[in-house]
Amino acid sequence: MNLIEMVKAAGVVGAGGAGFPTHVKLNTKVEYFIVNAAECEPLIETDKYLCRTFADRIVKTIPVIAESLGASRKVIALKGAYEKEIAALREAIKNSDSDVEIFEMGYFYPAGDEQTLIQQVTGRCVPERGLPSDVGCVVDNVGTVLNIADALEGKAVTEKYLSVVGEVTHTMQLHVPIGTSVLECVRAAKPTISEFALIMGGPMMGKRLTSQAEIEQAVVTKTTGNIMVLPKDHYLFKKTALPMETVRKQTKSACLQCKMCTDLCPRYLIGHQIRPNLMMRGLWREPSITDNEEYLRMFGDAANCCSCGVCEMFACPMGLSPRKVNEYLKGEFRKRGIQVPKNPEAHAREFVQERKTPTNRLVARLGLSEYYGKHPSSCEELSVDTVFIPFSQHIGKPAAAVKQAGDTVAKGELLAAAAEGALSANIHSSVNGVIEEITDKGARIRCRKE
Ligand code: SF4
Ligand code: SF4
Repeated sequence: MNLIEMVKAAGVVGAGGAGFPTHVKLNTKVEYFIVNAAECEPLIETDKYLCRTFADRIVKTIPVIAESLGASRKVIALKGAYEKEIAALREAIKNSDSDVEIFEMGYFYPAGDEQTLIQQVTGRCVPERGLPSDVGCVVDNVGTVLNIADALEGKAVTEKYLSVVGEVTHTMQLHVPIGTSVLECVRAAKPTISEFALIMGGPMMGKRLTSQAEIEQAVVTKTTGNIMVLPKDHYLFKKTALPMETVRKQTKSACLQCKMCTDLCPRYLIGHQIRPNLMMRGLWREPSITDNEEYLRMFGDAANCCSCGVCEMFACPMGLSPRKVNEYLKGEFRKRGIQVPKNPEAHAREFVQERKTPTNRLVARLGLSEYYGKHPSSCEELSVDTVFIPFSQHIGKPAAAVKQAGDTVAKGELLAAAAEGALSANIHSSVNGVIEEITDKGARIRCRKE
């Protein structure tokens, strides 16, 4: 098998959050292979842990991937403030006499956003709603690189490194089987409050779990990197729950047209056509516009929003919600059958380096300072009795079960095969055990203790 076939067999998908099947991403030729270790969101330090702990393995695997891509430039991009991690990687590069480069990024949000990262590393701008390969790049998260290293040794993706942060007694770095209950991870860190809600991922873009049922059903998947425990009434949950009609009224009465949302928008900064202040200005008229061409002219730029949240969580002095408005408008494009054309050329604005959102100030603005800087240097293993392994942990079609209830499975054995001829990924058992229940959604496995 070649590298792409081995990666496909192992079920590798983007570990940084997107879950795009990696064998599809690697099936191209580019100039740059960039490893994303910049940890986009505040309060997540899993990539830092991986860089410190597995520097040799990361550095040795990069040239193998780059060779498959035909990439002459191999770059690890991480924040310049990650001194220990940079030292470990530089030592590994020196020891293996490698031509892998280190690119030190500023301490800003969203440094780890793929398009922002490409602009910083190469000076190139991915076109609107385009792909990194459009500008000769492939970007993989550092966790994905380690999963590819395992795939090259015939090992499937079965485990996950993640952190548990927030209202917990012990901020933890955990190593768990995929399918582990999220609640078990939270309990291991000993929550300090009983009435909590969770954010899966980072505070800016992570998925909010607010009901008890959602929290109890959630499991660790191939894309989980962080679990944030917060009081149920935290500002981050209130802000997300605002109904669209409230947002519309607030916008009408309070938007100053100061343009701060546009000035700091990361997509605007890399040259995309997006000016959230103009969406906000026209919002009051939006319900009365029935002509699709006029709708497109007034609001089409909302299609270029990546939902990073800088506008509403940091930039807006009035606490308004341009991101929510853009998400609403994108939904309207789908309902109205509006196709928004793309501008194929993007050029970064001249102030792209000056208008970055500092991570430290963002953390303070989000009301999260008390949870900052508490990550441990070591990682703990969590042993579990059962796992529930979903068959859709990736972008695309769910995998299809190849086992039955009652079957005995070994760790790494195929549970569900990638859908044929579609974007999909294989799913494997993360433990040795017996399948108690299996549906088209996933498999519950009782672990067999050795
Ligand atoms: S930053 Fe806020 S007040 Fe200023 S233009 Fe944008 S939405 Fe309006
Ligand atoms: S969420 Fe706001 S800042 Fe981010 S891309 Fe969309 S409009 Fe720009």
